[in-house]
Amino acid sequence: MSPTDPLAPRGTVPAHEPVLTVSSLRKSFGANHVLKSIDLSVRQGEVLALIGPSGSGKTTVLRCLNGLETPDGGVVAFRGIHPVDFASPPSKKQLASLRDQSAMVFQHYNLFPHKTVLENVIEGPVQVQKRRKSEAASEASNLLERVGLADKKDQYPHELSGGQQQRVGIVRALALKPSLLLFDEPTSALDPELVGDVLHVIKELAEEGWTMALVTHELAFAREVASEVVFMDGGVVVERGHPDQVLRDPQEERTQQFVHRLL
Ligand code: ADP
Repeated sequence: MSPTDPLAPRGTVPAHEPVLTVSSLRKSFGANHVLKSIDLSVRQGEVLALIGPSGSGKTTVLRCLNGLETPDGGVVAFRGIHPVDFASPPSKKQLASLRDQSAMVFQHYNLFPHKTVLENVIEGPVQVQKRRKSEAASEASNLLERVGLADKKDQYPHELSGGQQQRVGIVRALALKPSLLLFDEPTSALDPELVGDVLHVIKELAEEGWTMALVTHELAFAREVASEVVFMDGGVVVERGHPDQVLRDPQEERTQQFVHRLL
């Protein structure tokens, strides 16, 4: 599946046009200023990799984009239309339209335990997007087949390995046909031997032109798939640029220390 086929994201924008623009994004939890004014943009077909030490605010960025957290300030705009300015509390309608633009793949999969694989995948399209169940199920079956899980669609999450559950998590996100796929450390809960399969699926999606933002500790993987790497520390963007530059020849001392520890 690529963004030009019928299962592709809605509202696909021309190549290289911005899908997401974030300016001055701020978020605090009590006295903890977690995001201190983050600017980001992701263009159509690009893969943005967010890296940085634990606690630097990477997951919070993704959660703010997906409406799982409400920023304290800043502007988030998808495809340049209907920017949401968090200077004042967003309306329910604004939050819903923001949520509708992206889909998140979680570190711990977050599948519904009492629903089958197929039911997990069609939940969003049917309940939230009000699409026909038969159509959603047929698309879900195609997507599951693509990631090698066609024979698992009537099983329950606990009957699958972690790697299989995460591939269901990815399919569930794809089924929403988002403008932007968000991955929050998608392999960090997996046993090492299961990591490769999931990274392979993500790499294929990147090659097919899906636009994505990815939080990852897998720096070698980020170097392989990312169009841009953003290094965060302490709630700010310390350095950003092409993966070869940020990961092989970082300019900032904090980036150098982080990269040299992990690569
Ligand atoms: P990272 O993804 O870089 O590890 P996070 O975005 O998960 O960082 O967390 C950044 C900081 O925000 C941490 O200090 C974390 O404890 C805090 N934090 C994240 N979510 C919450 C929350 N829901 N309530 C309170 N503090 C939070």
